[in-house]
Amino acid sequence: MIERQRRTKILATLGPATDAPGVLDDLFRAGVNVVRLNFSHGDPSGQAKRAAEVRAAANRVGVEVGILADLPGPKIRIERFAEGNVQLKAGDRFDLIAKADAAPGDATQVGVSYLGLPQDVGPGDVLLLDDGLMQLQVVEVQGERIINTVLNDGVLSDRKGLNKQGGGLSLGALTERDKELIGIVAKIGVDFIAVSFCRNAQDMNDARAIARQHGCDAALVSKIERTEAIENLEEIVEASDVVMVARGDLGVEIGDAELPGLQKKIIKAALAQNKVVITATQMLQSMVESPIPTRAEVLDVANSVIDGTDAVMLSAETAAGAYPVKAVEAMARICLGAERQFQIDTDFNASPRNLERADQAIAMATMFLSQHVGVRAIVAMTESGGTARYLSRFRAKAPVFAVTRHDGARRQMALMRDVFPINFDSRGFTPREAARGSIRLLVEAGLLQAGDRVVFTSGEHMETHGATNTLRLLEVGNDGRASGLGEL
Ligand code: PGA
Ligand code: MN
Repeated sequence: MIERQRRTKILATLGPATDAPGVLDDLFRAGVNVVRLNFSHGDPSGQAKRAAEVRAAANRVGVEVGILADLPGPKIRIERFAEGNVQLKAGDRFDLIAKADAAPGDATQVGVSYLGLPQDVGPGDVLLLDDGLMQLQVVEVQGERIINTVLNDGVLSDRKGLNKQGGGLSLGALTERDKELIGIVAKIGVDFIAVSFCRNAQDMNDARAIARQHGCDAALVSKIERTEAIENLEEIVEASDVVMVARGDLGVEIGDAELPGLQKKIIKAALAQNKVVITATQMLQSMVESPIPTRAEVLDVANSVIDGTDAVMLSAETAAGAYPVKAVEAMARICLGAERQFQIDTDFNASPRNLERADQAIAMATMFLSQHVGVRAIVAMTESGGTARYLSRFRAKAPVFAVTRHDGARRQMALMRDVFPINFDSRGFTPREAARGSIRLLVEAGLLQAGDRVVFTSGEHMETHGATNTLRLLEVGNDGRASGLGEL
């Protein structure tokens, strides 16, 4: 009997804690499917070096690992303090100075990087600093000076982030710096580009256009983390390949009480449009310092698997934590356990899915068959990964082995739940020969065995995108080849 493999994918952020020799190999062995390079921290050349090391380590370990470049976006930050930090008390006055070269801050005021802030706020607004740990209420705006009352005691230190409660900052998602970085990450050859603080479909279309101008065919990830993005959720999902539930900033802007409902809503919206979805931030936060997760964290990871997410993300747990490998191991273990609780939706009639394309229709039929005939696996020949994506949106019982010779397509499929990318070059083969060849490869890899039934999908014209139009029900023969149920 072949062991059940984990279906939910793990995305791990790289940072100082993963730079030591051997750590990447250990992370990949522990089950990381995609890594995140966070361009808010570190310089681009350091991230490029990490990307090269990721490719080398993935080769050594023999796994497909995607690389996601996360653009900083218009994160508003306060500037520095003369002494590094200040102690503030509820009731104090504390001013923000929106100008390019504000003097270093003190206990009465500090500079802020976003010059438009005075136009975007008014008396009564609440500003959240350091992920909400410090709250200010605006009293009055005088030119570039925003006068506030401190709402709680606390310490404020250099370069902390600033959000406005309820959203409504008018700044665009793609900064000049982001545009420049898209060119840089295109050269690095990343598989995913994440747009931070996107507001609408236009932000995603702009990012995609710039990436394509640089000859980069990375998948575009929208990070849902501001109020406007929730208002425009449907159009953003449509303009994205992947959607991220970015719970960190989203929780700050919208309030933590809204998070559970929004997580479910965003995951549903993504799946309904056949898009891939990541659940992110603080999933195993205590593991930054502890070798085991809290029970609440175990439940959080498990619940997002049950909500239907494709992937779960680690941030500081791997980038800056004391136990990066243990965090990945914990995540893998929890996902596998949670998948047993996941209820598969077999009601094909109830799902209002849009079947405009032949490959979507084949995917639907494949899922129907795999559910009702009882197959060991689905084997899908795919060029761009599109067929695998449609197949995986149905969350079937059987795993999807997605076969392609294209490295980039395999690395993008590494993020899809239920999908296992397989490297096989079908050029020059008829669909029948490709079926035999790829099934033999899966048998050799120990993923299938004699007697297993599979549904095999391919296009009549191989090597063409979106051309999947055939489906066969096959049985693995004793020679490890596909003998046909039916004609083959
Ligand atoms: P960040 O994005 O880690 O880049 O802030 C994720 C989030 O806000 O949850
Ligand atoms: Mn964020």
